[in-house]
Amino acid sequence: MEIREDIVVGTHIWVADPELAFIDGIVINIKGEEAEIQTSDDKTVVANLSKIYPKDIETPDGGVDDMTKLSYLHEPAVLHNLAMRYENNEIYTYTGNILIAVNPFQGLPNLYDTHMMEKYKGAPFGELSPHVFAVADVAHRAMVNEGKSNSILVSGESGSGKTETTKMLMRYLAYLGGYAAAEGHSVEQQVLEGSSRCSEIMGQALENAIDSNPVLEAFGNAKTVKNNNSSRFGKFVEIQFDKHGRISGAAIRTYLLERSRVCQISDPERNYHCFYLLCAAPPEEIEKYKLGNPKSFHYLNQSNCYELVGVNDANEYLATRRAMDIVGISKTEQDAIFRVVAAILHLGNIDFAKGEEDSSVVKDDESKFHLNMTAELLMCDPQALEDALCKRVMIAAEEVIKRSLDPLGATVSRDGLAKTIYSRLFDWLVDKINDSIGQDPHSKSLIGVLDIYGFESFKTNSFEQFCINFTNEKLQQHFNQHVFKMEQNEYTEEEIDWSYIEFIDNQDILDLIEKKPGGIIALLDEACMFPKSTHETFSQKLYQTFKDHKRFIKPKLARSEFTIVHYAGEVQYQSDQFLDKNKDYVVAEHQHLLSASNCSFVAGLFPPLTEETTKTSKFSSIGSRFKLQLQQLMDTLNSTEPHYIRCVKPNTVLKPAIFEKTNVMQQLRSGGVLEAIRIKCAGYPTHKTFIEFLHRFGILAPETIKGNYEEKVACKWILEKMDLRGYQIGKQKIFLRAGQMAELDARRARIL
Ligand code: ADP
Ligand code: MG
Repeated sequence: MEIREDIVVGTHIWVADPELAFIDGIVINIKGEEAEIQTSDDKTVVANLSKIYPKDIETPDGGVDDMTKLSYLHEPAVLHNLAMRYENNEIYTYTGNILIAVNPFQGLPNLYDTHMMEKYKGAPFGELSPHVFAVADVAHRAMVNEGKSNSILVSGESGSGKTETTKMLMRYLAYLGGYAAAEGHSVEQQVLEGSSRCSEIMGQALENAIDSNPVLEAFGNAKTVKNNNSSRFGKFVEIQFDKHGRISGAAIRTYLLERSRVCQISDPERNYHCFYLLCAAPPEEIEKYKLGNPKSFHYLNQSNCYELVGVNDANEYLATRRAMDIVGISKTEQDAIFRVVAAILHLGNIDFAKGEEDSSVVKDDESKFHLNMTAELLMCDPQALEDALCKRVMIAAEEVIKRSLDPLGATVSRDGLAKTIYSRLFDWLVDKINDSIGQDPHSKSLIGVLDIYGFESFKTNSFEQFCINFTNEKLQQHFNQHVFKMEQNEYTEEEIDWSYIEFIDNQDILDLIEKKPGGIIALLDEACMFPKSTHETFSQKLYQTFKDHKRFIKPKLARSEFTIVHYAGEVQYQSDQFLDKNKDYVVAEHQHLLSASNCSFVAGLFPPLTEETTKTSKFSSIGSRFKLQLQQLMDTLNSTEPHYIRCVKPNTVLKPAIFEKTNVMQQLRSGGVLEAIRIKCAGYPTHKTFIEFLHRFGILAPETIKGNYEEKVACKWILEKMDLRGYQIGKQKIFLRAGQMAELDARRARIL
């Protein structure tokens, strides 16, 4: 049994609490390994000594703006600090150079205005209150001074504020990129051009990128349970700068748009915003596209939610059109875009009935009407559309056979077509916006801003969650390596020895997922290529292959579920749709149909496959393609100096002033904040300057106060007198091992 020196009768502590995550109290009795505690809500609880944490009673009431200033770095202290600050509307807190942002769910006065921007420009990091502007400023300054690319990685769960944070970062960078431009010019030039106009031009690229947001949001965002305006894709915005730090171009890369939402939604979520906007368009357009009440469309009426509180879809429609104008999408293109959106709605209303034998036919007159409308809007032949939905061409032994699909098969074919068209449309928009923003081929350095989905664990988790969590494992590894490196840098600077600090990373999980050959993605691709595979044969293969893998669990009685032990916790995946969702080919019939469209826009979404492409990309899978995209992203990030912003959603009701501690703790765990703290704790979690140390612990050796010792000598004297081991003395700071700070405090308390 290990005796804890740091906990004695009278010690202020934190102890686990089922509702509050942790509650504070005072130890009133210790028997063996059990402590009796009087909690602050006047209860007496008994807890094992290993489950209680010392509480620092000297932390100021408003908390500290950097968690590393906490004397005791552990979960309850971190959580309490964030909660106290949130109560005072201090939504930002540092953990070293990581910024934690707690969603205020309300506009806070002046938090992002021009005056704030001015204040943060050039201010040393840590001097002002924590803020997104401070992070952007550091990144920009580092880029200008060192000529090195920087990146800002924003993560957090859905609704935590990533996209809003990204917008603020971009605004600030546009401000800096423009401001620097005005400075870079001679005074005469500025007078000639008018400095405000000058910065306007320079910031234009970025302003366009920000302006493109309404377009991307209309097509890539939807209301979900977690966020009324949830981005259903990942995004990396790369802002290019010239050698003076002026913005010279920008590019947007997107990742993994959620395709299934186009055809399948559940109450109380919505489909992509654009569908509802279009249904609220002016009457002439409704007439032209034969639209009407969104309730009449199958792709929308699977959920009872049609309207968003505080949002007027008719106004949003006009706003989206205006945003399209700004990013240079022509009127003709805009018409074509909305024609395609309308076509998808009509397509979803085509139902099928059983035809002769195993075939299917378009069900009734209503379905026929929608078939004709779809064909008219996509400008293709209605009969060809019907065939493409209901039949498949099989090539067998030199013979071409047309096989009919049964009604269920035809419905799957219909939904497949809708998803393909929609995702092509989204990709087109991204390409168009990139053309409009313009790239700088000569740019020497960039600042990348990543707004990507955080770790997900739901009741049922499918292929999407698998890809998302894979992304987060990748980013987590990057994050751990970075935090570890920063920590080591500080040790090196202080010239202390850190060689024995161990660092556990998540490479084993990454191997499980992406190793080639033999990882889950590779096995999934294999299963997709083999016609007789089912999700059950695929799952059996996983069970066999990974039966001894530490990170893989076959749940009891499972036939097609599997569990991965992620860094942020266990997630059980349902593999039944993995094979279908991984297949990334466009059905040949759909391809032929649309590349033959009389509308050049539609045909352009489906460029004819050349002999070459059909041969080389015989099989491509979403999983492998995503893995490749992710690797490219990691390569980009690895060539930059990273900065991290962790967004936190304080409650599930999306309201201000509510701080659910247990929920927040889970997010800090999965966001890697606690992992960063663990890395710090593995080394020397407490760093105190000699002066700070003497101020607090001088009393332990009054002789040091009386004698006129050099600070470092005095510190050393105290530490030796207390008989601690393993601590280190740097050039200006004392580095304590985990628990030592509390132990010193306990001894001090006995004297006081
Ligand atoms: P995410 O991208 O992480 O899913 P969003 O950025 O869309 O989340 O934020 C969800 C909602 O939270 C926003 O629509 C907004 O109402 C609110 N919100 C987020 N960040 C802020 C902020 N800094 N200030 C005010 N409200 C915010
Ligand atoms: Mg978002």
